[in-house]
Amino acid sequence: VKPRLPRGRQFFANPGPTNIPDSILKAVAHVSIDFNDPAFLKVYDAAVAGVKRILKTQHEVFLYTGSGHAAWEAALVNLFSAGDVLLVPETGHFSDSWGKMAKDFGLGVRTLAADWRRGIDFAELRGVLAADSGHAIKAICAVHNETATGMVLPLAEIRAALDATDHPALLLADTISSLGSMEFAMDAWGVDVAVGGSQKGLMLPTGMSFTGVSPKGMAAHAGSTLPKSYLNWTNMLTRRHKSFIGTVPTSLFYGLEESIRLLEEEGLDEVFDRHARLGEAVRRCVRHWSGNNGPSLFCLSPDRYSNSVTAVLMPEGHDAEAVRRIALQTFNVSLGGGLSRLGGKVFRIGHLGDLNEPMILGTLSTVEMALRLAGVPHTPGGVNAAIAYLAEVAQGS
Ligand code: PLP
Repeated sequence: VKPRLPRGRQFFANPGPTNIPDSILKAVAHVSIDFNDPAFLKVYDAAVAGVKRILKTQHEVFLYTGSGHAAWEAALVNLFSAGDVLLVPETGHFSDSWGKMAKDFGLGVRTLAADWRRGIDFAELRGVLAADSGHAIKAICAVHNETATGMVLPLAEIRAALDATDHPALLLADTISSLGSMEFAMDAWGVDVAVGGSQKGLMLPTGMSFTGVSPKGMAAHAGSTLPKSYLNWTNMLTRRHKSFIGTVPTSLFYGLEESIRLLEEEGLDEVFDRHARLGEAVRRCVRHWSGNNGPSLFCLSPDRYSNSVTAVLMPEGHDAEAVRRIALQTFNVSLGGGLSRLGGKVFRIGHLGDLNEPMILGTLSTVEMALRLAGVPHTPGGVNAAIAYLAEVAQGS
């Protein structure tokens, strides 16, 4: 299939970074300003207060110039000491990566193994916590929405398992690909450290991440001895901004102010509903394709479907990268690829951020064209299933 010069708007269907609304692009295009200028501090304080509302927390929030990995690292070095043991419920590529980072810092990592297509067993989690009567496990590092597989890890159930076993471990939650797209409630779910990033549901450019930290998290920080400096929360608290040891990325805060305005103008619940219906439309389309030995939903646990990303499993013998290549090079639609062991086996449709029905239908139509051109078996007409569902929802609303 011949590549073509890209014309028209690119349909960006990656699960992060995501489409940046024009009003955020304009807001980010701000001239340089002293980060202690009162005009900027007003924007800064309002944006940080907004992040707290989106995280649904009353607690401390620290922000970093760095992508989500920086916030992962900040959580680890600020809370723990060499040899501390963490429990990582296996979700996929991102739980593996966070666990690997913890090992790099000399922490002990226990993995609660799971089939990436089905997710962990909560009875098993309770068993592990109940058996840990000496409380060797200092924290659970949970990836709320596994972006590599399109599966959610219900955090309220993790909190319930900790409470049911009277286990004092901290609950760390990565909400990088769920925040601003799916329900997340830091304080209500008893999350001690919530890790978020700028480039997904918040619809901002990549480059800023943050952690919400509970009082229990701050108490653990006081006893932590892992080396830290630039990411040290204690150092940050001495600054006016209570974050950022160096220069503050001011332009991102103009964007963040606009991002929060957009999310709150729509209403968080409406935002979540929009993601839920677009996610369901994608799933109905993929289910339709899956007839005739076509591509299918990677996630096999319907109660844990992600509303921000869908991983689509290719039929045996067919390469997901060929589909992605045609979609991008011929039709200018950018899809996500398979990560680590899923490389070539899945492609991912991101459906989060600044997105509506025509955008998702355009993406699904293009994926179907790419399947056809790549010679991948499928039942044609998946987009009709998505159209029927989206029309039905619109009718009822
Ligand atoms: N955690 C999750 C769930 C992610 O989806 C990502 C990135 O896609 C990361 C962590 C890493 O974040 P970053 O790429 O911003 O460093």
